[in-house]
Amino acid sequence: MVFKCQDDSFIKEYTCKVLKCEETKEPVVDYGKVSKFEGYQVTLENTILFPAGGGQPHDVGWLNDVEVLQVIRKGDEAVHFTKEPIAVGTIVTQRIDWDRRFDHMQQHSGQHLLSAILEKEYSLPTTSWWLGAEESYVELETTCVEEYIIRKVEARCNSLIRDAVPVKVKLCKANDPDLNEAHTRGLPKDCMDTIRIICIGDIDENMCCGTHVSNLSQLQVIKLLGVEPGKKGKINLKFLVGNRVTKSFQRMLDRERSLTALLKNEPNKHEELVSKLQKNLKAANKNLQNVLSELAQLEVERIKNAQPKPNYIFMFKKEATPDFNRAICKGLEGEGLFLFLASVEPDKPKEGQIIIQGPEEYCNVLGQQITELLKAKGAFKHGKFQGKAGDLTAISKCKKIVEEYFANIL
Ligand SMILES: [Zn+2]
Repeated sequence: MVFKCQDDSFIKEYTCKVLKCEETKEPVVDYGKVSKFEGYQVTLENTILFPAGGGQPHDVGWLNDVEVLQVIRKGDEAVHFTKEPIAVGTIVTQRIDWDRRFDHMQQHSGQHLLSAILEKEYSLPTTSWWLGAEESYVELETTCVEEYIIRKVEARCNSLIRDAVPVKVKLCKANDPDLNEAHTRGLPKDCMDTIRIICIGDIDENMCCGTHVSNLSQLQVIKLLGVEPGKKGKINLKFLVGNRVTKSFQRMLDRERSLTALLKNEPNKHEELVSKLQKNLKAANKNLQNVLSELAQLEVERIKNAQPKPNYIFMFKKEATPDFNRAICKGLEGEGLFLFLASVEPDKPKEGQIIIQGPEEYCNVLGQQITELLKAKGAFKHGKFQGKAGDLTAISKCKKIVEEYFANIL
């Protein structure tokens, strides 16, 4: 069956009768993301909502005021997933989420154009393609495409878009001699009764069940984003068409403006400035490590030489690194002290590393209380606890417990 949406890809409203309405628990799949669903599958006399197929995702829309969350093809029929039931025989007005559909048409017709140029002019046939929520790609059976080829293909496609080459749909039967010229790429097995061929001028003929623009100017522009490794021996060439190009450009512009405000300099200086900042940060970190390691040694000396000798050390320095704390621990091993050290995770102020060490009699009493209060994960091993604290807000409470404990035993 050729659906109304395939007959005319530009219909936005259509009225017809409900033929079936059945309960369903089949999941909803959108751009490869699977979600649980419980509701109804509604079958209509015909549909302007495209059921997923040929690499093109399904449409969404409404039947009167009932939302359609997914449309899939089942044999010769399209079933519409709704949350509410609609009585058989009801006359409903179908409406389509046109922004989503037109976006799919731009990406899908863009893919046909791109694949045709790659195959006919560069001998790079498309083996499959993917229309994603953000980006799309064509899969090519090669391990590398030079950047200058990508730029030439892009320029060629954009020139054909400017020429507003017509896109037409030819319908034929399985024994039609015209079929020999067309490719079977992306054709679902259940659309074999009437075969649709999408023709882009005299550039391309391709069997396809999808919805397409009526001339290439409706694609506006195509932007090739470059290649990334794909399946074994293949690469994916990523692309954006039409509104996705302007939307993506706007996002880039917004990011660039934020960076300009942060770096207080023009975009052509950003790269240089960030690289300078990274170098400075690396040097500052190295200096900090050196200073902290000297400080740790000094702290150890100070504690060892203190008179009278302390029974415990409770140290929480926000700037301390795990290295600093380890150096203190090592320096005070065997001194008979109870030691508690904490450092903060750089980008999670509530979390950090803690170390508890000292004579068993102290650790047995204090260790469990402290680790519980700080929601610490880790274990005592050879009289030493080293682990991660999930909540450092209780640190002053821990300090009080330690202070009171030693005040009482002395
Ligand atoms: Zn197609």
